[in-house]
Amino acid sequence: MGERPTAAFWGAAPSPEQSRYVIGPEAMGTIVIFGATGDLAGRKLIPAIYNLWAAGFLPRKIAVVGVARKDKSDGEFRAEMCEALKKHSRTGHGDSDSCDPFVSNLYYHRFDFTSGDNLAGLRARLADIEQAAGLSGHRLFYLAVSPEFFVPIVSRLGQDGLIYPPGGARWARVVFEKPFGHDVDSARALNGAIAQDLSENQIYRIDHYLGKETVQNIFAFRFGNAIFEPLFNQHYVDHVQITMAETVGMEGRRGAFYDGIGAMRDVLQNHLFQILCLVAMEVPARFRAKEVHDEKMKVLCSVALPKDEPIEAWCVRGQYTSAPGVPGYLDEAGVRPDSHTETYVALRLFVDNWRWAGVPFLLRAGKALAKRVTEVAIQFKQPPTHYFRELSVAAPQANALVFRIQPDEGISLTFNAKPPGMDFHIQPVTMDFNYGQAFSGSLPEAYERLLLDALRGDSTLFMRGDEIECAWCLVTEVLRRWKEAPAPEPYRPGTWGPPSAARLFGPARGQWRDD
Ligand code: NAP
Repeated sequence: MGERPTAAFWGAAPSPEQSRYVIGPEAMGTIVIFGATGDLAGRKLIPAIYNLWAAGFLPRKIAVVGVARKDKSDGEFRAEMCEALKKHSRTGHGDSDSCDPFVSNLYYHRFDFTSGDNLAGLRARLADIEQAAGLSGHRLFYLAVSPEFFVPIVSRLGQDGLIYPPGGARWARVVFEKPFGHDVDSARALNGAIAQDLSENQIYRIDHYLGKETVQNIFAFRFGNAIFEPLFNQHYVDHVQITMAETVGMEGRRGAFYDGIGAMRDVLQNHLFQILCLVAMEVPARFRAKEVHDEKMKVLCSVALPKDEPIEAWCVRGQYTSAPGVPGYLDEAGVRPDSHTETYVALRLFVDNWRWAGVPFLLRAGKALAKRVTEVAIQFKQPPTHYFRELSVAAPQANALVFRIQPDEGISLTFNAKPPGMDFHIQPVTMDFNYGQAFSGSLPEAYERLLLDALRGDSTLFMRGDEIECAWCLVTEVLRRWKEAPAPEPYRPGTWGPPSAARLFGPARGQWRDD
């Protein structure tokens, strides 16, 4: 077993303030990744574990056991993960001198989830590996597999004695990848089924957006500054826009998967609703899992979808067409030729509570759009009177506060100023905070934060079962109404989606931030 790479190679070791996040050998869990040969494991999970290990957040000796169907040796798995690190680790890993010490902590165990076999072999293997590595036997099971395998795997883990009851000397936790359910009934059924073997505090439902630095910073910005939080309400905010736009379409490979999902299930139900919760929630009593989940839940319970208006009045769904050199959605491999799956959705909803009553929240997400951007814009109200009107000056623009979640991560505040000169007029200017300029080093990947939290037993940045069900309730209602609504509206790739999405603002209430 070699040493970790040098500090110069991975960047600074944990600072004294970060030392409470460092996991010692006795608290460290064996990480078992189901689906270890898949895209997610190679591109995100193993690089995240490597970065945590290299930065000193994990003990020198760890054990990561990959489980999948293919037949391969530990050596082959290690060599593949070394290649994956070269391609995908944000810190890079240089050469085999720095890769080998890490991948010698990796093991591979072949198991076919459909075989009907039990997991006694894996249980024995884990015991051997843990004994040899001097680990305590805590376990983090990560289900990076298709959701149809969630229940069979958890039941097998339970039946075969790999999950310890909560409250004992050793812990066992299970991380569930998205999608967690397909609609409200399936999400409820899934929650019910996994509750047979796991208690809620052993369940970690991931939404990797919550692990993004920029999303966590919404907490810091709102609850760590005295001057902004008093403005987050119906007295000052005109509307809120949450956008998740991608320029890519199906890229020739995701058609079959996406056609059964669509933008509403793929990103609205999870990422956009989670961001909505962070923007709209009350200050949690403590910055702790239960209190944060409780406040998010209150937001979701307050979301009102209009009952009396036709869905076209508050929701637009679109599907991209072809353009020269770009196949349309219906031309993509795996997509049904008569598919109504939405590649774009825009939604106007209200958070019907005292803080936000009457403030429209406009959410939109789509593929093959004009620009790759995920952002939250808090659009404030106009000043109550046009004070400079006698000087024939145009009315000031309303202030806007924008959280840029990705790319170009940062926060900006637009306000009005007088440009220098004898003339008196007003012009919007922007104060900008940019992560790259304010802080040195690359941002930790979301999966680093979330894996470390799951190992430490902190589920603040994960989703609780009731939150997921509540979000699915809203989404299921939209999906139900779409059955009776017209087909998705076509839009050209490289645009901002169907032009009719502008109508969600209603008369004189601004427009989408399409710049
Ligand atoms: P993937 O590339 O298709 O990998 C699937 C993994 O599951 C492989 O390791 C495969 O093993 C294993 N597997 C499939 N059937 C099996 C069986 N019968 N027995 C044992 N192992 C079996 O999928 P992925 O992209 O990594 O995604 C995994 C999960 O994460 C999905 O639920 C996905 O929705 C979610 N997710 C993925 C991403 C991403 O960026 N990829 C992002 C968010 C969420 P073999 O190779 O040995 O067949």
